Amino acid sequence: MTRHAVVIAGGGPTGMMLAGELALAGIDVVIVERRTSQGLDGSRSGGLLPRTIEVLDQRGIAELFVSAGQIHQAHGFALIPLDISDLPTRHNYVLGLWQCHFERILADWVGELGVPILRGREVVNFAQDDTGVEVELAGDTPLRAEYLIGCDGGRSLVRKTAGIHFDGLNPSTSWLIAEVEMDKEPEFGFRRDSAGTHAIGRREAGEPIRVVLTERDVEHSGGPSMDELRDALVAVYGTDCGLRSANWISRFTDMTRQAAAYRCGRVLVAGDAAHVHPPHGGQGLQTGVQDAVNLGWKLAQVVNKTSPESLLDTYHAERHPVGSRVLQNTMAQVALSSADDRHQALRDIMAELLSMDEPRRRIAAMLCGLDIHYDLGEGHPLVGRRMPDLDLHTADGPMRVFTLLHHARPVLLNLGEPGRFDISPWANRVRLVDARHDGVWELPLLGEIAAPAAVLIRPDGHVAWAGDLRDPELPQALATWFGAATPTR
Ligand SMILES: Cc1cc2nc3c(=O)[nH]c(=O)nc-3n(C[C@H](O)[C@H](O)[C@H](O)COP(=O)(O)OP(=O)(O)OC[C@H]3O[C@@H](n4cnc5c(N)ncnc54)[C@H](O)[C@@H]3O)c2cc1C
Repeated sequence: MTRHAVVIAGGGPTGMMLAGELALAGIDVVIVERRTSQGLDGSRSGGLLPRTIEVLDQRGIAELFVSAGQIHQAHGFALIPLDISDLPTRHNYVLGLWQCHFERILADWVGELGVPILRGREVVNFAQDDTGVEVELAGDTPLRAEYLIGCDGGRSLVRKTAGIHFDGLNPSTSWLIAEVEMDKEPEFGFRRDSAGTHAIGRREAGEPIRVVLTERDVEHSGGPSMDELRDALVAVYGTDCGLRSANWISRFTDMTRQAAAYRCGRVLVAGDAAHVHPPHGGQGLQTGVQDAVNLGWKLAQVVNKTSPESLLDTYHAERHPVGSRVLQNTMAQVALSSADDRHQALRDIMAELLSMDEPRRRIAAMLCGLDIHYDLGEGHPLVGRRMPDLDLHTADGPMRVFTLLHHARPVLLNLGEPGRFDISPWANRVRLVDARHDGVWELPLLGEIAAPAAVLIRPDGHVAWAGDLRDPELPQALATWFGAATPTR
């Protein structure tokens, strides 16, 4: 039996990101992926939102994605346009990049980090005991791991086998989505009728046409067919627009469910395995990637025995509320998109509200993942929030905060007098950086905040502590998040 510290079931966006995070921390991790290649039809995520681009920037890889995509300065809430260009982030835009390209670039990075990917293999069962998990693969020898992470999508076998409840709402609406060739160019844009909202368009000239059609029935047996697509087009547009062929046809619903627990002993779930919801607002992939970035460093520290297992419970404590809020806002968007006159009236009022700066910024920050605030207790407003990517002056020259996070290691950033704190008991884990920042500190929603003298930044970019280096709580914060002090002589 082959042994690894961590087995990840599923090499989609979440599994890949988690593997990268673990590899950066030197953990022996393997991905088991059912697909034989990273190839994916285009029926899923259309791009990246600001916080996801930020977490990639924190690892020094954002440019790989940005250079492959298209920048748009507007997002939408239930298709009500939202300008996001004034959000206080370097990445104040939506990056148009189909999921197939996102996964390809991410998989290349993970490959460069040396993570083995067992492709064309499927996790079919597992059993956990006090020391690890035995993972059964279809037609292959089992694997033994200290931890098994289910990043195996909405129908997650890992979640089901662990007995984790997945409560929520059954689908109320179904949509057909397809990439097609048509003889006649149809009228591009949105169309609303009594079934709901429909859309036809293409992102770039020369690309195939994409169609999204709200179906009149929710229940369907089997995958969608060309005939169903043709009938649905005729029902909405009165013509099939000379539909010639489809590169792919798929179906999605507004099923909304969340795992009751993200951890069951040595088994954890992340991404769609932990939460499913309709694609309104384009948040599923983002939430999964950010789950991975929250879990990666914690799991690495537990595997390395730097931190106790209880650190893993903070993964559920921090990420479950985030997932729950995404479910809430997608349910609201589905409700707002209902086709009748009363919902149209509600949409009109929401559109009016969202034309005002304060509500617009609030909803935009929520959709973009920039308002996330983990409950890490009282203290400076930064505590629990994402660290802004400030321009710093350091002994090594100008540097951005995110550059300090490229190796996924914690940083104690001292912006005051150097030499006021002895980091030696944590020096093998936490890097102390003396720096100066001359500009203002601006956070999404909060606006300008008072500059702290020092900040303890976790590898996921969230602030664990902020204050004066003589604060007696600093050693406690270091021990809580990065393990007990190592005795020094
Ligand atoms: C129509 C549509 C549009 C969307 N648009 C957006 C958008 O614009 N923005 C956005 O952020 N999100 C969007 N999403 C959601 C996004 O696609 C998902 O949230 C994202 O793919 C989740 O990533 P994941 O890695 O958690 O799961 P998945 O992408 O489902 O990956 C799971 C992986 O696990 C593998 N697997 C499954 N079972 C096993 C097993 N037993 N053993 C081994 N491997 C296994 C699968 O082959 C797969 O590769 C959209 C989804 C749909 C359907």
